[in-house]
Amino acid sequence: MEVNLLNTKIEFLKGVGTKKAEVLKKELGITSYQDLLTYYPYRYVDKSHFVKIRDINSEDVYIQVKGKVVGIETIGAGPKARLSAKFVDETGMVELVFFKGLKWIKETLHFNKEYVIFGKPSLFKNTYNFAHPDFEPIEVFMLQQAQQTEKFSPLYNTSEKMKNSFLNSKAISKLTRTLLSQTRGYIHENLPPYIIERFKLISHENALIQIHFPYSPELLAKAKARLKFEELFYMQLEHQLMKNFRTEKSKGFVFSTIGDAFNNFYNSYLPFTLTNAQKRVVKEIRQDMRTGHQMNRLLQGDVGSGKTLVGLLCMLIAIDNGFQATIMAPTEILAQQHYTTIKNFLGDMPINIAILTGSTKQKERKIILPQLEDGTINIIIGTHSLLEDKVQFSNLGLCVIDEQHRFGVEQRAKMWTKNHMPPHILVMTATPIPRTLAMTVYGDLDCSVIDELPPGRKPVQTVHFFDKSRLRVFAFMRKQIKEGRQVYVVYPLIKESETLDLKDLMDGYESIVREFPLPEYQISIVHGKMKPADKDYEMDRFKKGITHIMVSTTVIEVGVDVPNASVMIIENAERFGLSQLHQLRGRVGRGAEQSYCILMSNYKLSTEAKTRIKTMCETNDGFEIAEADLQLRGPGDMAGTKQSGLLDLKIADIVRDEPILKASRSLAIQIAQEDPTLSHPSNKILKVYLFKTKPQTDLSKIS
Ligand code: ADP
Ligand code: MG
Repeated sequence: MEVNLLNTKIEFLKGVGTKKAEVLKKELGITSYQDLLTYYPYRYVDKSHFVKIRDINSEDVYIQVKGKVVGIETIGAGPKARLSAKFVDETGMVELVFFKGLKWIKETLHFNKEYVIFGKPSLFKNTYNFAHPDFEPIEVFMLQQAQQTEKFSPLYNTSEKMKNSFLNSKAISKLTRTLLSQTRGYIHENLPPYIIERFKLISHENALIQIHFPYSPELLAKAKARLKFEELFYMQLEHQLMKNFRTEKSKGFVFSTIGDAFNNFYNSYLPFTLTNAQKRVVKEIRQDMRTGHQMNRLLQGDVGSGKTLVGLLCMLIAIDNGFQATIMAPTEILAQQHYTTIKNFLGDMPINIAILTGSTKQKERKIILPQLEDGTINIIIGTHSLLEDKVQFSNLGLCVIDEQHRFGVEQRAKMWTKNHMPPHILVMTATPIPRTLAMTVYGDLDCSVIDELPPGRKPVQTVHFFDKSRLRVFAFMRKQIKEGRQVYVVYPLIKESETLDLKDLMDGYESIVREFPLPEYQISIVHGKMKPADKDYEMDRFKKGITHIMVSTTVIEVGVDVPNASVMIIENAERFGLSQLHQLRGRVGRGAEQSYCILMSNYKLSTEAKTRIKTMCETNDGFEIAEADLQLRGPGDMAGTKQSGLLDLKIADIVRDEPILKASRSLAIQIAQEDPTLSHPSNKILKVYLFKTKPQTDLSKIS
């Protein structure tokens, strides 16, 4: 068998060794030759171009300057000491500043000698300075340039720890160069000729060489296009093959009947008529659950679109077919709310429902668990407590997962093991996922969309106020409360500075208590540091309408349903992401009354924060907001994609590279359809590559 050189451990590369290998692994996850080859530069510098000091401007990112050191002095002493060097060319002067390794720099940086410096200028008191620039005596620089055939040098992201271990960008570039010369001829093509021709791609090996050391901007562009294409193509090919496999081979329970549970509920208990979107989606799900294959479906719908009810109807179908069903929510509050809602919906129907969460008492567990195992309980609602091994079902047929992005993929998979055949899975998400992202990330799930809100909803009016308008806001709150409505006031909670955030919240709470005194006004407060029981108590008072104002952190972000609340005030709105703002706003506008969302902010707003706030004021459409969010933040940051590791792209960007995404997607679909086992000789190369790069996915299923 051929040994794959690219799988060689990185420590064996000349210039690495065990110590640096350790750092590379820890900081970048690089363990093999292959990993280093795919650690791409984030930008390139034109080494033939020098900037004159006179022409430096604050927009410059990294530049090269040729000049002389005309003065070196140490300023300060001890750990605070720094080295400052005056550096001039014929047009002006800049300052070079060093905080570390002063001794070494002092010995190497010589007075009145010519250097090429490379770094990022920043303006300080009318002079540009460079903190820790790279510097090279001019003759060394020239020699290096003469040895190099290409004009551009790559820049790699490196961390502080890496720099301390002599692994700066230049060192990475050197290692990569060594590696590329060593692997010549061992980097195999991973796409068949017909694809390469059809999409006019350069070879895999050439792309890797050019992405690190481009000969020209044109070749660099071709290298990027090639690597993006293969990255997106392989990801989607894998999804499509998995999907094929599931729909064709994986057995699922057949829900063939619609019986008493569904019909009685639908005809006699349902308090309103379904929206057309709800009807359509229930039909889609029903179709999917009777094919004999396991359903894996994503149900998307904006906040307030009525997903819970759809989930319930599907669970009733499960019951009609002799199965149990479950709904799993990410928090206690939500599980409790689903429980109450569903209990109310079902009224006196002969259906047993139970709730299981982290705070369910041992005594109750002892009753619930056996009843779940012997089938007495039809529907169980809960948090991840449901995933515990102790939780066993008699015959679980459907698992509804609410607010998917709070659960990882493994958790989804854990539910599969709760019956001898995997139950149907319905994942509900209220964070609308932009189409591009959905088709990339959830390419293996079927998708249903509720694109219509229940009738009578008035769009929430959203306005932006600066802090100085607080009195006006208080007056508005008073007016709304007088009309019988309730108000949320939400403060940001960002993990890193929890104590500070809590202080903001408490200060805010106190000023609200002063403005809205007892006994006329009742105020609830909820935050993450409270005991669950206290939280529930406060939530409950607000839900029942006993309190008028709910002051809280984002714990109420997801799913909480209090239709009488009509005002959502978001403090420090500039600190929230778009999808979070939209989620919060979704807490109001659930009843028949006109609702309002007030975004409070500081005066100082970044351009991005301004765009976020503006977007919120302009639209109520979750999909539009999700698209805007994706544009602003990039897909890496979209809710949950990072934590679930679903979108681990090295070079492609699903926003900017949408044309490539689309082209590679239709190719992947076509191949998965025409040659689902990749047995055609021309596709053999695809199969080999998929197995090689994705040994963790069980693709043996497809062969
Ligand atoms: P989400 O999709 O955000 O989870 P919910 O399921 O909480 O939304 O539903 C929001 C509110 O709309 C609930 O109070 C629910 O009872 C109500 N609702 C759901 N469907 C309809 C409908 N077809 N007509 C009227 N109200 C509905
Ligand atoms: Mg919900």
